[in-house]
Amino acid sequence: MTIDLEALYIDLHRHPELSFQETRTAGVITRELQALGLDFVEGLGKTGVATSIVNGDGPVVWLRADMDGLPVPEQTGLPYASTARGTDPAGTEVPVMHACGHDMHVTALLGALEQLVATKDQWAGTVVAVFQPAEEYGAGSQAMIADGVLDRFPKPDIVLGQHVTPLPAGVIGVRPGTQMAASDGLTVTLLGRGGHGSRPQSTIDPVVMAAATVMRLQTVVSREVDPRDVAVVTVGSIHAGLKNNIIPAEAKLELSLRYPDDEARASVLSKVERIVRAEAAASGAEEEPVIVTDHSLPPTINDADATARLVRAFSSAFGDDAVIDPGMFTGSEDVSWFARESGAPLVFWFWGGVDPAAFAAAQAAGTVEKDIPTNHSPFFAPVMHPTIERGVDNLVVAAREFLGGSA
Ligand SMILES: [Zn+2]
Ligand SMILES: [Zn+2]
Repeated sequence: MTIDLEALYIDLHRHPELSFQETRTAGVITRELQALGLDFVEGLGKTGVATSIVNGDGPVVWLRADMDGLPVPEQTGLPYASTARGTDPAGTEVPVMHACGHDMHVTALLGALEQLVATKDQWAGTVVAVFQPAEEYGAGSQAMIADGVLDRFPKPDIVLGQHVTPLPAGVIGVRPGTQMAASDGLTVTLLGRGGHGSRPQSTIDPVVMAAATVMRLQTVVSREVDPRDVAVVTVGSIHAGLKNNIIPAEAKLELSLRYPDDEARASVLSKVERIVRAEAAASGAEEEPVIVTDHSLPPTINDADATARLVRAFSSAFGDDAVIDPGMFTGSEDVSWFARESGAPLVFWFWGGVDPAAFAAAQAAGTVEKDIPTNHSPFFAPVMHPTIERGVDNLVVAAREFLGGSA
């Protein structure tokens, strides 16, 4: 039997699910794994699924696909566009769309497993396939690890993963070293003393404290980070007070921080903390600000040797022009926890999903940023072909590169 990958992709695309709610998606995955004759463990990290193909002695290769959709109203106009709704963690009903292409990732990994099962006489070792929930929360891989995925399956000698992206279909983007940024989300609560708006002398005003803090935080990147390095300090949310004549007791800031490596991360975090505490002290605050890390994503760092091997393998399979260095992305991923926790090298690459003619036209007109929808856009719509087939082939070529040959 052969999996109808196009039908599978359309089905997943029509039925996206929010992070940690991917129960239907997990059901589709386990149905296909059963049809391939593969045992699996489900419910890992709530809705994650993992399976293995054990095929004699040899290296253990982990292949990872993420499963979740996003609260985005799909506007692609495709005949298979999503009209799904979901309930977010705040209890709000929201539209749901596979706006990051994780449906493509699941389809490609199932297609690759089918090929690896069918060609077992040509390779040796173990393939572990991980279908991970909640990448968009930056929490799914750690949830699967907390549920023992690294103990219940053979530990990886290498972790491999891929993401569909707005490059022309047929192109692979991969680089050694930092492929994606590290990121932290912080909530900072500045504690003052509330009182009457007419009597500021009896209060410690957290609104002024917050304003000064936001402005001073801008100097981290502009004055303290080497201009040749990449870092982002964004205050995306600021909340204080309910009424003009009441000085509130506290102010809350939400920060998004990005950097290329752990060293830069430690450095930027310490500067942010220094400024937050110093501005509170400058305001005469009687209590220290409270700084909480809401999520923390490590940098996605590609192992140099393994990436060089993979670039050679991809180039010989798809041609030298098919592999480019896309530079570092300031987005973040949680795939690398599987590699970090197990001490294995990681290679994570991007593959194109845009009609090459449309991409070339936009490039010629200088309108790529405007005309080619990116991940998380309501217009994000990878072309099914050859994106599905290339997604499958990428994983098979990559897995075979690191597995053993047949005895
Ligand atoms: Zn995403
Ligand atoms: Zn994604």
